Amino acid sequence: VGDSADFDKEVASVCPFCGVGCQISLKVKDNKVKYVEGINGPANEGRLCVKGRFGFDYIHHDHRLTTPLIRRDDAPAKGLNVDPGSWDEVFREASWDEALDFAAKSLKGRGREVAGFGSAKCTNEEAYLFQKMIRQGFGHNNVDHCTRLCHASSVAALMENVGSGAVTATFNEIENADVAIVIGANPVENHPVAATYFKQFTKRGGKLIVMDPRGQGLRRFASHMLQFRPGTDVAMLNAIMHVIVEEGLYDEQYIKAYTENWEAEKAHLKDFPPEAMAAVCGIEAEVLRAVARTFAGAKAGMIFWGMGVSQHIHGTDNSLCLISLALMTGHVGRPGTGLHPLRGQNNVQGASDAGLIPMFLPDYQPVDDDGVRSAFTEVWGSDDFSAEKGLTVTEIMDAVHDGEIKAMYVLGENPAMSDPDVDDARAALAKLDHLVVQDIFLTETANYADVILPASAFAEKSGTVTNTNRQVQMGRPAVTPPGEAREDWWIEVELAKRLGLGWNYTSPAEVFAEMKRNMASLDNITWDRLAQENAVTYPSLSETDPGQAIVFSEGFPRPEGRAKFTPAAIVAPDDAPDDAYPMILTTGRQLEHWHTGSMTRRSKVLDGLEPEANCSLHPSTLRRLGVAPGEHVRLSSKRGSIEIMARADRAVAPDMVFLPFAYVEAAANILTNPAVDPYGKIPEFKFSAVRVEAAKGA
Ligand code: SF4
Repeated sequence: VGDSADFDKEVASVCPFCGVGCQISLKVKDNKVKYVEGINGPANEGRLCVKGRFGFDYIHHDHRLTTPLIRRDDAPAKGLNVDPGSWDEVFREASWDEALDFAAKSLKGRGREVAGFGSAKCTNEEAYLFQKMIRQGFGHNNVDHCTRLCHASSVAALMENVGSGAVTATFNEIENADVAIVIGANPVENHPVAATYFKQFTKRGGKLIVMDPRGQGLRRFASHMLQFRPGTDVAMLNAIMHVIVEEGLYDEQYIKAYTENWEAEKAHLKDFPPEAMAAVCGIEAEVLRAVARTFAGAKAGMIFWGMGVSQHIHGTDNSLCLISLALMTGHVGRPGTGLHPLRGQNNVQGASDAGLIPMFLPDYQPVDDDGVRSAFTEVWGSDDFSAEKGLTVTEIMDAVHDGEIKAMYVLGENPAMSDPDVDDARAALAKLDHLVVQDIFLTETANYADVILPASAFAEKSGTVTNTNRQVQMGRPAVTPPGEAREDWWIEVELAKRLGLGWNYTSPAEVFAEMKRNMASLDNITWDRLAQENAVTYPSLSETDPGQAIVFSEGFPRPEGRAKFTPAAIVAPDDAPDDAYPMILTTGRQLEHWHTGSMTRRSKVLDGLEPEANCSLHPSTLRRLGVAPGEHVRLSSKRGSIEIMARADRAVAPDMVFLPFAYVEAAANILTNPAVDPYGKIPEFKFSAVRVEAAKGA
């Protein structure tokens, strides 16, 4: 950091990485961001993690796309074969007019042959425009984004049983809790600023119950650490709820007033005594009983969860159990209580709210409701579009293989790295006869593009983003985009004009105003207000209300205001370990790297801290393999294999391997299983059967 002499201007914005949504001040000199400081946003109160503080220099990286590109006629066959330093062997520079005309001509009039992947890294306005373009321009709902790969199952369970997909309380509410459960989440690495609030909570005597197959940073602060067997969440949670029923620890008054289907849940839980479930989940019955008493006995309890819960073929069932646990103990709707799926990307909440989902229009309004569609087409001045729910991320890739989808528009996502069984996803991308990619770097997905549209980094554009706390926050431009790169909303508008959609927006503020017409969640939140206040939490009850940190104090947005218990049965993971693949692979993020690494691996500090692809294994596993820490192992699944440097980590169980998915040179998703949860359609990234061996020469 420095003093005001070190910069020409400072601009308030929002960190582009995780869903915590820390507010930052960008210190700018000579059109370059020199450094970043945390400011007093509602979610961070000045705090930042290493990514927010030091991970901004990718903005000025010399790999930035600075001009539209079109695939050369003599380019080699599509594949992961473009060197960012010599891309001119594959692409040629084009003017904006030529690139946009080419993209539009290749997409126009193709209806169901076209699908779109939008982005949780773009603004709310850009997400809204993207889903509008697919629906208005192509007449269907085949539009999705990375929520499908992170919390789709949590949202499915919350929508069905609580009536709303967003958190019921901000994570800062932990300040008012006396007990909190964190399950299947590793906030110290993935939501680091939220983790600081969790740690403070324990310092003032709050009891933290951590449940995770992998030991993790919060373990040191936990009153109870339940390192359960991977994939046995339902058995463990049902056993805890069994105890609550058996010992009469539930909140009868709350259940009567605000829920339905309790008797069915109660009867179902009889089959899950902790003594029997201990053998399934690996947690002793007495510990399960102690946790049940601690959580049910709390005056105010919260439940936080992450992708360890959601990324399973039983991810929806896992979330249903958490919802039931909160409902039966009455831990919803009061200070210090609530259900909080910790959202991953900085704007995955907002992009979902804005309708970047194949089954919902903005504000989770169902596409198969005729009245809902007509409300949107009236605002859009366009014809009706399909009432059929669209295809999800993985279904779209299957439809490409089947020849039903032949062209795609990918905005800011990187399925060539992020999809499960990624070799199969890459083969699908190669099969497309037209792929438009809009991004700031020539990503792995852009390797397969026919036309590449150079976009803007967060520090180069205006727009709102919504964090895990339902806080809508204002992002502001601090520097100008490099070369010919443009703001994403501008590119979308120009493309839509060429598709004949008659769009004439001249600013994100106009888009936001249109969004408000059919999004009740934005009532009392205006562009001007956000420009002045930086953040407003939805719902906001008046033009001066900063927004409701806690919702559902007096019932739920469901019939008769009642939330629902849905019993969940045990479903085994899809990819059962066997003699050939005896170990369990789980994938995730590391503190220093973000998702597929396109930004953080181009950040000097972050890449300096974690420069090499790595996996973590228990020391006893490494000893058994004859591999020293720092040497390489070969990981193989039914889908492929990679070689990667191994680290010793006692937090990983001896039959598990943890693998970050940021590294293209050892792409984790070559190994992962594409089987999906039947409701959320989310892949089982957290459980794949693998074999681990010493790599040759290890
Ligand atoms: Fe950015 Fe998340 Fe870190 Fe905050 S906690 S600085 S939002 S990455």
